[in-house]
Order: sequence, then structure tokens, then C-alpha cells
Amino acid sequence: MNPGRSPRSLVLRGGLLVTQDPERRVVRGDLRIEDGRITSVGSRAEAAEEEIDASGFALVPGFVNTHTHVAMSLLRGIADDRELAGFLETLFAVDAHRTEADVEVGARAGIAEMLLSGTTSFLDLYYFEDAVARAVESLGVRGFLGWAVLDPELTTQKGVPVENARAFIGRWKDRPRVSPLVAPQGVYVCGKETWLAARDVAERAGTLVHYHLSETRKEVHDHLEKTGRRPVVWLEEIGFLGPSSVAAHAVWLTGEEIETLARRKVGIAHCASSNLKLASGGVAPVVELRAAGATVGLGTDSVASNNSLSMLREMHIAGLVQKNQRWDATVLSAQELLDMATIDGARLVGRAEDLGSLEVGKQADFSMFRLDHPTLLPARPEAIVSHLAYSAAEEAIDSVYVGGVPVVRHRALTHGDWNKIRQEGESAADALWSSRPK
Ligand SMILES: [Zn+2]
Repeated sequence: MNPGRSPRSLVLRGGLLVTQDPERRVVRGDLRIEDGRITSVGSRAEAAEEEIDASGFALVPGFVNTHTHVAMSLLRGIADDRELAGFLETLFAVDAHRTEADVEVGARAGIAEMLLSGTTSFLDLYYFEDAVARAVESLGVRGFLGWAVLDPELTTQKGVPVENARAFIGRWKDRPRVSPLVAPQGVYVCGKETWLAARDVAERAGTLVHYHLSETRKEVHDHLEKTGRRPVVWLEEIGFLGPSSVAAHAVWLTGEEIETLARRKVGIAHCASSNLKLASGGVAPVVELRAAGATVGLGTDSVASNNSLSMLREMHIAGLVQKNQRWDATVLSAQELLDMATIDGARLVGRAEDLGSLEVGKQADFSMFRLDHPTLLPARPEAIVSHLAYSAAEEAIDSVYVGGVPVVRHRALTHGDWNKIRQEGESAADALWSSRPK
């Protein structure tokens, strides 16, 4: 069999299955897959075209990273330890020199990092998303790709950004791995017309809308000064807020704004590491959002502000921050953190019926964690969820499957050559790093 080709039927025998099903069962047993979908979970499965002994592994649903700018992987470390204003100044200066070719190189490197750390789906916000879409298809991940939209007079894009987004969606819809969408950047660069045009594009095409929201106090205060309203209140008044939308950050919210977001069924991508590193100051009200009924997923944001794309790190940090800030060790349990990284992320991108857990009928997107890795000791079923949330290292991941297709095997990509991706990344980074302001 070719490496990376999907067998029509596959059985993984005797693994520790972290199902993330409605009962959150962890069971020892078989996982059977046919044509990329799961056909049995836990019970003794009939023979298949390919059989794998999974007895030394935990099988865990693929992570859904709900906020990234994946092509920025070439900019890791370029603007560390700066205030947000200085950070953005450097990034905007470098961004102006980006080409579609280096966006594709950066996206391939970022996707490789995600696959090797167990992420099988991601929600992206950037431009030149055709290049990101090509990288998604070549490496076999699932990409929910948002074309960045801002007011026409503020953009370096050719043409009107919202029309570019509409055209991008037209070019990439109905693909198995790529879900195109529209992504207004934030209230600081999008006026009412742009927000409503983006909403209109999404509704007509049946896609998600993804955007940054209330990340910093400055953003909230500037918007209050300009419009007399806080961002969430203003977005509600102009008629933008609604389902099928995912807001990244949502750090600076009032109780009323939390209620509004939950009532409007806005999904939240919580980006704990990025907020901490850029010193957003507050801590996103994740507990209140969840209590109000909002769905909250986890996002890494870009490696310029994280500096990792690991969802394992993100679960760990998100949990610790909420506990410490609230003087309450009981909030955001390991199980809740794993939920946010898997099934809630799937819900956020509108694919809960298809992704985010190991259940019959769903896509076979999962990772195999080595149970003999030091960070998983003791490898007891009752401790596995805790290990995933708090201790598991990326190196414990041996193999990763998307739709029943192995995309990582024994820590190597099956659809790409890491050495080639790395070399292309290094040379594209040379050009970008030389364009940064001194
Ligand atoms: Zn972001």
C-alpha cells in the first residue's frame, strides 16, 4: 500500500479510546473505519483490509484549533517582548512584503507543526488564502480558511477585500478538506458597511464568519470613543451578531456583552497564550461565557504571538490561567479543557455532527498517543484525560489520521517532506526577516 493512501477498511485493535462521546467514555477496544468514517467504537470489530495493533496507544480525537494565522509560521520570534502597538508595527511592515508564494511556504510549515502536535482541523484568518488552501490539500489537514476583510481604503489587497473573499469562497467551496469563509479583521479596521457585507457574503454562501473581537482594552476604549458603544454592543446594534460566527479573543467583555454573545450563538475562540504574551491584561471570562451557554473553543493565534501551534500547550495554559486568576482550582477541569480542544471546537466550526469525537458515523480524525511516553505515566484509563490536558508532550504522538488517512506516521508526515518544507521556510524567512523595521 502507498504511504498515506487510505485503505477502504481499517481496524485499530485494542487501543485506549478517548471517545469524547456524549458520555465521555474512555474504553479499551477496537476502532473500525470504512471509507474514512468510523463504523464501530470499542466492541470487537470484524476483520478489515488493514489491521493495526493499537494496544500501546491512546486514540484521541484530532484537535480543532479555532484561531490561527498559519502562514505566519515564518515570523516566529520576530517581534517578541513588545507592547501590542510595537508588535503590530513590525508585523504590518513585514506583511507588506509578503507574496503568495511565501504564504504557501509558511502555511505548509505551520500545518506540519499542527499535524505533528495532533491538530487535524484549524480555523484561519489571513489573505492569499488560496495559497493556504493549496497547502491544506497537499498535506491532508482540514482547513476552515477565512479571507481577511477590512475597509477598502485601509487594505493593501488588490480590489475590494469583501469581494475578494466572495471570489475565494466561490473558488474553494465543495472541497473535502477546505472550507472557505469570510473573516472581518476587527472593529479597528472594519466599518459598519464592511461588517454587514461580510455577513451577507457568509449568509449567501452558507459559510462561517470569523473575526477578532475585544482583544485589548485599547480596542474597546477606542471604539467606545469613536461610536459611543463597546464593540459587542455596537455589532449587535448594527445587526451583525448571529450564529455561524466565531469571535477570537473576547477578553474584555461586560456581563451584558457575555449574555448578548451567548444569546446570539456566537462561538468564542479563546487564545490564552497569545493574550498572556501580548499582556492583554485581563483574562477572558471563559467560565462566564460557558455558564451563559456560549460554545468556547481554543485557539493558538499565530506563532508571532504564542509562539507555538500546539493545542496540548494551549489546553494546559488555558486551564492554569482560569484557575489561578479566580482562586478556584475546580474551574475548567481537564475534561472541560479536552472538550474545548475537540468537540466544542468542532461545534464552533459547525461540524459537530462530523468531527470532534470518536463516534460511529463521524470522520476518522484522531491521533495515536504512545502510552509508554514518560509524560503519560501512569497510563491509567482514569488518568488519560488529565494527562492530555496537563502533561502530554507533542513527542508522545506517534501517528495522526484525517478521514481515515494517515497524515503522520511514526512522527513523520506522509504527504510531505519535512526537510523540504523546512528548507523552503528558512529561505522565505530570510527575505521576510530582512524587511523588518530596525
Ligand atoms: Zn489573531
